[in-house]
Amino acid sequence: MKLDGQCLCGEVTYTIDSEPKFTAVCHCTDCQRQTGGAYSLVVGVDDEKLTISGDAVKTFITVGEEHKTNTNRSFCSECGSPIVGRIDAMPGLAFVKAGTLNDTSWLKPTVEVWCRSAQPWVAPLPGAERYDGDIPS
Ligand SMILES: [Zn+2]
Ligand SMILES: [Zn+2]
Repeated sequence: MKLDGQCLCGEVTYTIDSEPKFTAVCHCTDCQRQTGGAYSLVVGVDDEKLTISGDAVKTFITVGEEHKTNTNRSFCSECGSPIVGRIDAMPGLAFVKAGTLNDTSWLKPTVEVWCRSAQPWVAPLPGAERYDGDIPS
């Protein structure tokens, strides 16, 4: 499976040369703020198989509530689209913002994290595992 995607303006593009590991919803307040939406929809992929192109990529760092480690949030500095997050506590994984994929038809989130800060009107996803914070390690 080869996946690709891009930001809103098209300056930043990427390809993923492996199977996605999971699709998850993150309800943390930082994701709500970054996306401007109720949550962030992400696909977990092998960071080594993710290739990002475009000079407009910039990274903003937030500090995770639970692990107190950095979350590196990369986005397009031209149009502001969030592209990928990388969490220092989870090396080797990249969390691609799933709404930037060119084909979103196959997405099926199976995990919800940071449910404690979920918007109250967001119904639990059918069949998805729900965690108050991060997935317990
Ligand atoms: Zn852009
Ligand atoms: Zn989050």
